[in-house]
Amino acid sequence: MLLTLMLSTAVAADPTWTVLSPAFPLDATEDSWIELEVKGPPGQHPRLQSSRSSLELKEERPGLYRARFQPAPGDLTLDGQMLGGCRTHIGPLGVFEVTKDNAILRTGPSSDYDRQTPVTRGVRLEVVQRQGDYLQLRNPDGWLRLGEGTLLPPQTSLGNGLLSLIRVTPGENRVQLQMGSPCAWQVRQDVEQRKFWIELPGVPSATFHTAYAQNSSNIPSIRVHPLGERGSMVEIPLRRRLWGYHLAWKNDCLEFTPTPPPRIDPKHPLRGLRITLDAGHGGEDSGTVGLGLGVKEKDMNLAVARALRERLRKGGAIVTMTRETDHQVSPEDAPADAELQSRVDVALRARAQLFISLHHNARPDVKDGRVAHGTHIYYYQPASRGLAQAIAAPLARAIGEPSYQHFWRSFAVIRQPEMPAVLVECNFLSNPGLEKGMLRQPAYPAKAADGIVKGVENFLVRDM
Ligand SMILES: [Zn+2]
Repeated sequence: MLLTLMLSTAVAADPTWTVLSPAFPLDATEDSWIELEVKGPPGQHPRLQSSRSSLELKEERPGLYRARFQPAPGDLTLDGQMLGGCRTHIGPLGVFEVTKDNAILRTGPSSDYDRQTPVTRGVRLEVVQRQGDYLQLRNPDGWLRLGEGTLLPPQTSLGNGLLSLIRVTPGENRVQLQMGSPCAWQVRQDVEQRKFWIELPGVPSATFHTAYAQNSSNIPSIRVHPLGERGSMVEIPLRRRLWGYHLAWKNDCLEFTPTPPPRIDPKHPLRGLRITLDAGHGGEDSGTVGLGLGVKEKDMNLAVARALRERLRKGGAIVTMTRETDHQVSPEDAPADAELQSRVDVALRARAQLFISLHHNARPDVKDGRVAHGTHIYYYQPASRGLAQAIAAPLARAIGEPSYQHFWRSFAVIRQPEMPAVLVECNFLSNPGLEKGMLRQPAYPAKAADGIVKGVENFLVRDM
């Protein structure tokens, strides 16, 4: 059970309230005392509430408040360690306005937590609580870093717009939701049912009727569901398979553009298909280094990528590579965190219809990487799941290794929603037996490539 600490105060929105100690998440046993130290404006009377007790913090020096307390037994887990951090709440915090272009809403108060939908500049959200550098927000629910916006007083209007018009751009199958002022959004998608939903938290709708998209070959009609206080939900059915999409704020509209699925000839499924291959790591970044012979992952990845390119081209695909030799993809002087986005940018520039990132594993997905075998395929977007699933078995079969199937994972290179994207861990380079054996065989890259091609073809011809 999570120990929940509530700090309540009459003080209005004030970002200067900071918990100095303890450090969160904290470990505590049932009989331990917790020293709580909080910095804030002087002359206040903040109270501390755990699940069993309530006490006032003493102002020791102007603006420095302390309390000493024992957590209640019910706040602790069986082995005496807390499962999570303490949560703190300081008064009504007010309204947070996003000032970054695309702030990253997360599921928890640090960059270790998963990303949710990006939030556009200008969006205002109600603050629930603050923890460290992060604010918890409502509608949509999630956490943003303090540095991504400004805190406004609690009385500030959220200024959410009104969904006043839905337009489908003729011929382009692009949906524009006109709203006046920027708002946050969340998406849901059902790849099998070919449906896409855009939730607009806090945005009421003036278009309660069904909008028929008469000019669209892909979108038969659009339905708006009012959600009361929670805003509105726009439901967009699609005639064609949901391949990917682009969703962004443009002028006073939120624009949704589904990626047209490729036209597939079942006899030659790869023909004309634009595919970007990403050989993981490169240059200074070797990736995993084998413990037996010092084989570098970046070289293995490139060997498989080249073999895969050759086979895809034979089938008529148009292949681009994020790198063809041993170098990093972003410019030398670019910041370190630009590297992964540079790889995604190669695919976006090429208007790729598939993206495959190739790696060799060292991560302890199974207990000991030194004796681990097998393939792991990762996807992030729902539209990518089928591709991950389709590759898993044929790849494992082609190289004669066990398949650990497919997993959802938030990796930067496969997060973009424009096209199906997967990250393939072909096998374990951290296993010296494999490093000295199978992975060194000249035929290995071609075998792995054959398996991946088979999987890609299976994915393409499915429900065509
Ligand atoms: Zn890697």
